[in-house]
Amino acid sequence: MSGGNVQRSRVLQWRAPSGSLSDRGIVRDGSAKRILVTGGAGFLGSHLIEKLLELGHEVVCVDNFSTGSLQNLGGMLLNKRLSVLDHDIVLPLDAGSFDEIYNLACPASPPHYQADPVQTTKTCVIGALNVLEIARASNARILQASTSEVYGDPTVHPQPEIYWGNVNPTGPRACYDEGKRCAESLFFDYARMYGVGIKVARIFNTYGPRMRPDDGRVVSNFVVQALKGEDITIYGSGSQTRSFCYVSDLVEGLMRLMASPEEVTGPVNLGNPGEFTIGELASIVVEMTGSQSQIVYCDLPIDDPRQRRPDITKAKDVLGWLPHVTLKDGLVQTIDYFASAEAATEIPQPLSAASAR
Ligand code: NAD
Ligand code: UDP
Repeated sequence: MSGGNVQRSRVLQWRAPSGSLSDRGIVRDGSAKRILVTGGAGFLGSHLIEKLLELGHEVVCVDNFSTGSLQNLGGMLLNKRLSVLDHDIVLPLDAGSFDEIYNLACPASPPHYQADPVQTTKTCVIGALNVLEIARASNARILQASTSEVYGDPTVHPQPEIYWGNVNPTGPRACYDEGKRCAESLFFDYARMYGVGIKVARIFNTYGPRMRPDDGRVVSNFVVQALKGEDITIYGSGSQTRSFCYVSDLVEGLMRLMASPEEVTGPVNLGNPGEFTIGELASIVVEMTGSQSQIVYCDLPIDDPRQRRPDITKAKDVLGWLPHVTLKDGLVQTIDYFASAEAATEIPQPLSAASAR
């Protein structure tokens, strides 16, 4: 394995789920489930775990803390129904049996997933195999956090689930895009070969509190830069588009998909169809923060998709799901979060900048 992570082969149990549930003061009624969330200490995972705990479930969070942190779990760490394991999902995991599994473990920001692309592919592919084996052994439902990146630089717009995508298989984004595509095929093969109950969500750009200040994705970069009065870094001309979903809407979509009838396997797009150019996003953030920051134009990273917007017809029809939080309302929450966060760290530069704009 890459990255000198040999010590990660040992499962470190940060909070041991020792003793029976009743010994630990946990009362499980008929509806409470034992749920595994991989990547649970990350941005999306920590919001998902918060909701699952609120509903009375017992949650096991598995994370290698490469981009996540215990800080994201905050007060949840006091909850007896939460266990946290420091474990790399590239290695097999023995944490008992589960009713449901959400597989979120994987760095999601381009500078982070490109920092060790071999580990990213291993996380996507070997990690998926490991969690699918747990699902198979447990007879658990399992949801894969797939991504709009499976559509690559799309030639169909907006993107419906039936579009097969336009991915460069050898470029610097391929470790993530192709890794997630391979994970999707493994999920469907486990459903076909072993009858595993799968759910595949294709998540479009999601933002909100608990993103790292140095996450590197556009919303956190622009908000942190604006709050610090630093230059706002638009990559390329800023004419490329993205559609931004607030985290609470996204978590609701994931949970609805998990609860959907067995025959609903997905893939299902989850995202907010409101589409903005990156230039528009920069202007909105500057206006909302009242920042004196200047906008500067930097090289566009290689293979940066020119446009992205989800067709969410399927999510509406099958899950009855719609995002409700507007970009401005979501940005208010996000700006408040970063304004109150302690010392922001440095923002990483994109690893794959092309000279052409
Ligand atoms: P994140 O980087 O905040 O969270 C990822 C978590 O996975 C982190 O806690 C990290 O430490 C953990 N992790 C990474 N590799 C691991 C490994 N090998 N073993 C165990 N843990 C590991 O990113 P996020 O935005 O919360 O994304 C969560 C998931 O959702 C990812 O799978 C990502 O691909 C997917 N997704 C997110 C978005 C988005 O816009 N946020 C969009 C599409 C897909
Ligand atoms: N981007 C930017 N400035 C930044 C960070 C990102 O202009 O500081 C651009 C990036 O080139 C891309 C878009 O914003 O066109 C969204 O980037 P992000 O990394 O958030 O997500 P992804 O490219 O994976 O959709």
